[in-house]
Amino acid sequence: MSEERDPTVLSAPLEAAREVDPEPVQPAPESSRARRFVRRGLGLAVAAGLVAGAAYVGLRDAGSQGPGTGTSPSLASVSPSDGVGAEQAVHRSTVGGSLLQRMASSILAGDQNSFSATVDPRATTFAAQAQMIYDNFRALPLASIVMRYVSDDPTALPAARRTELGGSESWLAQVEVSWRLRDFDQQPVRMTVPVTMVTRQGGTSYIASFSDQVAADARRPFWLLGTVRVQHGERSLVVSLDPNADLTEYAQWEDDAIGDVSKVLGTKWSRKVVLYVPRTQRQMEYVLGAPAGSYAHIAAVTTAEAEERFVGVPVRIVVNPAVLDATSKQGRRIVLTHETTHVASSATVSPVPLWLAEGFADYVAFRTYPVPTSMVAKDLFREVRAGKVPRALPDANAFATSSQRLAAAYESAWLACRLISTRYGEHELVRFYRAVHNSTSATGPEDAFHDVLGTSQQRFVADWQRYLKRLAND
Ligand SMILES: [Zn+2]
Repeated sequence: MSEERDPTVLSAPLEAAREVDPEPVQPAPESSRARRFVRRGLGLAVAAGLVAGAAYVGLRDAGSQGPGTGTSPSLASVSPSDGVGAEQAVHRSTVGGSLLQRMASSILAGDQNSFSATVDPRATTFAAQAQMIYDNFRALPLASIVMRYVSDDPTALPAARRTELGGSESWLAQVEVSWRLRDFDQQPVRMTVPVTMVTRQGGTSYIASFSDQVAADARRPFWLLGTVRVQHGERSLVVSLDPNADLTEYAQWEDDAIGDVSKVLGTKWSRKVVLYVPRTQRQMEYVLGAPAGSYAHIAAVTTAEAEERFVGVPVRIVVNPAVLDATSKQGRRIVLTHETTHVASSATVSPVPLWLAEGFADYVAFRTYPVPTSMVAKDLFREVRAGKVPRALPDANAFATSSQRLAAAYESAWLACRLISTRYGEHELVRFYRAVHNSTSATGPEDAFHDVLGTSQQRFVADWQRYLKRLAND
């Protein structure tokens, strides 16, 4: 079982992408320093993105109460036990539920006036945010949107905030917003956000904010982070918060990646990919519910856009502009091909061990954009030449934040997959991956080594060790 990782977030080995830049950055005075810095930080960052953060937490919490605002208690459980309190709770949920319904149906219908009528006329900062939300959803190919009143807590807003809001009553509700993108999502994305409501004189209630009391570790929806621009590719959809990003180029690259990945995996997958291009790294971290700075050296991630994982969950590639912008075009395309392989192979909901998920994604990326082996596997080969040949395929810990051998883990995983392809053929590598992916047994990889490749994991590891020694000493 691969309980030890978070398959909702898989990241690219930026190390490789950077190291192989065929169009190096201008030889500015500090470029070598910057490069070293990025390399050093890479391991940590990749590990953080991969396993440590959301993954462990997400897995542990699956099936139980989510963190932060993730899974809120039912209305009944927060209602006061006395009759008056219960009556007020029912009133709030009825009023709030109908407001949300109007807001969502106005968005879907493109009815600006009806939408604006749900927004608190006294709200100052929220007026602009509400308009942004409306415009963002209208820019997306929205197939459906539902806003469901999940629960509330009349004491959640601080007294000062309630005073500021005024009105006869104000309260904070947890609202599940679910939306589906036409032609891209089989299932809606569902995310819980805190929504402030206020009742004004005359008894009319309004929505007054989407940003009170946001939990620090909550994943935030992309449409709440800023004004989006949308670019349709042939099979891709690029959604960007960056007013300056070249979205046509991103769409073209993603379309190419979809085609290149399909050359290996065939065309029996959706071949539809949604790519998020934030303006800042912090926005990327908000999407992932990650602490500030934790993705400092991650180029991109593939993530299930959800608080819980399930089959059919919408998956997004989220790039980190802070890192990717400093990478060559080829480096960026390697990263996108790597991530698209994760999308095509349903890696976010797969039981495949990390060495196979990451090694396979790199296999496809470097097959598409060949780079000299000695450049990609530099860290690993240094170890091997020093006599430190890996004893086993890298486990989940090798891909973790604390791993000292993160780059080597990626490199060795890549070469394990390349060895399978070289020795048995690419078709067998794909069959092997699928067998492990589809296995419901804890011994999935071992079974696949036997059933697909006619060997054992032990024998394969011995072959792989010899292979690494030969390549490292070439
Ligand atoms: Zn990856």
